[in-house]
Amino acid sequence: MPDRAVLAQGTVEKIGEEDTVITFRSDGEILADACSAADHPTAVDTLLRRFLKANGGVLDDLDEIAAFGHRVVHGGEVSESMVVDESVLDIVRRAHRFAPLHNPPNLAGLEAALRAAPGKPQVAVFDTAFHAHMPPEAYLYALPLSLYEEHQVRVYGFHGTSFRYVSRRAADFLGIPPDKVNLITIHLGNGCSMAAVRNGRSVDTSMGMTPLQGLVMGTRSGDIDPSLFLFLGEWLDLTPEEVYDLFNRQSGLLGLSGLSNDVRELQAAARDGNERAALALRVFSYRVRKYIGAYFAVLGRVDGIIFTAGIGENSSWIRAMACDGLDGLGVALDPARNESTDDSERSISAAGSAVPVLVIPTDEARQIAVETYNILKEDIAQ
Ligand code: ADP
Repeated sequence: MPDRAVLAQGTVEKIGEEDTVITFRSDGEILADACSAADHPTAVDTLLRRFLKANGGVLDDLDEIAAFGHRVVHGGEVSESMVVDESVLDIVRRAHRFAPLHNPPNLAGLEAALRAAPGKPQVAVFDTAFHAHMPPEAYLYALPLSLYEEHQVRVYGFHGTSFRYVSRRAADFLGIPPDKVNLITIHLGNGCSMAAVRNGRSVDTSMGMTPLQGLVMGTRSGDIDPSLFLFLGEWLDLTPEEVYDLFNRQSGLLGLSGLSNDVRELQAAARDGNERAALALRVFSYRVRKYIGAYFAVLGRVDGIIFTAGIGENSSWIRAMACDGLDGLGVALDPARNESTDDSERSISAAGSAVPVLVIPTDEARQIAVETYNILKEDIAQ
């Protein structure tokens, strides 16, 4: 896609709550207003109206939009972005059971856009798709195989849109063809996951059938002994739903620290001597380090380690702890480069580090736009 500029962007947060807020930016100006959006379809309508010049946006008419790109969290075993028709809506619906919090709002957004702009092409970009080429030894759980064959129980992986974007940018940065590059990509945001990328494709990833597996996250436990599900239910007299909630919403950095799920707050508290905050950050970083080691073993040759998303882009503390002691693998950070608050794509490794370590700011919205354009470029008027 030609490197088209972002004209405007907007988000609606706290949908369905009292204090719903719409944030809109164009011409570098950021405006945040209260708005009302009881549900996701209303939020899409509100946002689309905001793009009109009449409301301070950039379009005379919604008809100027050539196509819509949608992020869809779970697409089952789908391996690419798809132009939305009834069969694609069915794919999204069938994956609801794997991502009950994410896929229904994704579907509502798709349907709202289809209603608001009838006849305009809509493209679904699946977060799982980047991982669809993993080999069976990476995506199978060691459970009875019938659970995969009959119930599609397997590792799917997430954050694929982000991994695809940063892998491509990292390949350019390193001067390696995108289909030849081997990377360990580390997305640390509210959700956290990593991927081992061989020849530009994901060959292993840390999240599983759902986004609960793998790294420690803000409120999610990541990897734990599955027996805990039964034992905690018995010991604490909790229903399965309550245990599930404990693992998803009361664990991770929040559960360990008892303070916050936000790395900024935990760093400040740890600097003030809060031991539990420091412990939570150590457990978080140790898990990342362990997966870095695992992905060295998976890949054999690593051309770069890539940090991205809110924590990965901004926390030099976490990056330093995650890479600490990896000298044996040829990984050494340059402390001054790591501390730099420059927000561009950059190397943070020491001159003598055999493996470059990069910070690449992710841009999932741009990746969705690129994929939407690529799939439709024959049809979109230039
Ligand atoms: P999402 O997964 O929702 O897109 P982000 O990628 O924006 O989330 O990451 C959000 C997290 O990034 C916050 O919870 C916070 O812990 C962390 N974060 C954001 N800015 C900083 C910062 N300057 N220093 C450390 N952590 C930060």
